[in-house]
Amino acid sequence: MTRIIKEIEPFLHRQKCPGCGYYTVYEVFPQGDKAIDTCTHCGHQMQILWHHEIKAVFRNSEKFFRNMEEIYPELAQLKNRGDHIKLDD
Ligand SMILES: [Zn+2]
Repeated sequence: MTRIIKEIEPFLHRQKCPGCGYYTVYEVFPQGDKAIDTCTHCGHQMQILWHHEIKAVFRNSEKFFRNMEEIYPELAQLKNRGDHIKLDD
């Protein structure tokens, strides 16, 4: 059984950036079985493995952020490239 990973378009997601320490908007660029995940605020890059469960990983992280929005409503403002928010933690 071969799994074919469909080419998908780059997309935006939210993440706490280890480069700048802000909660920022990241952009994922899938490239074959890897993807480059880039902070649109500071440019920090991470390579991630692109596997068939990666979509579920992003869905879970989106769920996590939606829960966090109840405590930090400002997280809902992370939508566009370059957006960044500092939370005290
Ligand atoms: Zn950053």
